[in-house]
Amino acid sequence: MLPPGWDALGKSSFASDGFTAVLAGREEYPPEEIKYFAGFRPPPGFFKTLPNLQAVFSLGAGVDGFLRDPDFPKHLPLVRFVDPTLMHEMAQYVVMHVLIAHRGQRFFDAAQHQSKWQQRMLARPSRDTRIGILGLGDIGATIATDLLPFDFQLSGWSRSRKTVTGVKSFAGAGELPLFLAQCDYCVCVLPLTDDTKGIMNAALFAQLPKGAWVINVARGGHLIEEDLIAALDRGHLAGAVLDVFQTEPLGTESPIWQHPKITATPHIAGITDAQAALAYVADCVKRCETGTPLENVIDLRKGY
Ligand code: NDP
Repeated sequence: MLPPGWDALGKSSFASDGFTAVLAGREEYPPEEIKYFAGFRPPPGFFKTLPNLQAVFSLGAGVDGFLRDPDFPKHLPLVRFVDPTLMHEMAQYVVMHVLIAHRGQRFFDAAQHQSKWQQRMLARPSRDTRIGILGLGDIGATIATDLLPFDFQLSGWSRSRKTVTGVKSFAGAGELPLFLAQCDYCVCVLPLTDDTKGIMNAALFAQLPKGAWVINVARGGHLIEEDLIAALDRGHLAGAVLDVFQTEPLGTESPIWQHPKITATPHIAGITDAQAALAYVADCVKRCETGTPLENVIDLRKGY
């Protein structure tokens, strides 16, 4: 079962692999014949309609869209999409926005629009600029590695200690304050779980140095948007870049759209590549059918 738009591609691709794919909500199918489900945010209660399901494949890196359903069948393997192209797209997004902020590009954009030749020094060289990444997993480590050539001071926070070249590792709740105190840029790329929901709140912002930037490419549920706006408005934070929101699509009434210190994009930091996702689904199905262990299976106790 594939998202709209992938119909022809998915169907022919699976047919050549010897599988039949149907589109949930678009085609008729006998529910008892469905063995595998691939998708992103199925409607709550959906899994109750498939009595013979054997495995679930997320078409995104995060699985919060599945686990929000209290009826999600927890005895089945839930696999997440881990794709180097997606990781690098996420990293490009973060590198681009860090550099735009670091180089003060918005100032020069504004000057250009007024036909003004206005020179200005960098506020701080990159060697003295500290970038901290909340979540040093597959995507967080790729972001750090892709930032490495720019000579920033890099750190990451995760549950367990990590070894990533050029990146200082902070681990566990006990080291979070130390980590935050040294983030001129705080990038969130955590999975959304009971432990991380609402983590970017007033208390966290207060622990960041004055003038820090916040970049959220994880999930809208990580961020208390009202707290962010308050921290920006009182001048504690210098700016924010948001790709994900509490409510998506972001409502036209949201103050985020027009806020002068926020850059907002419509959840496009990393978009699942259809060809790569189809190859991943076919591989997962083949593994299940041949008894080969699945890779990237979610630990449901941790929620990621
Ligand atoms: P991973 O599972 O590889 O990494 C998750 C990281 O978060 C790990 O380092 C993990 O620590 C850490 N972590 C989880 N819970 C905690 C906690 N309570 N305290 C401290 N650290 C914690 O995930 P990915 O890097 O692949 O993806 C991360 C998220 O990015 C996804 O869940 C998704 O929400 C988001 N995403 C957003 C996209 C977009 O377009 N905006 C696109 C793709 C993904 P440890 O390793 O020690 O367990």
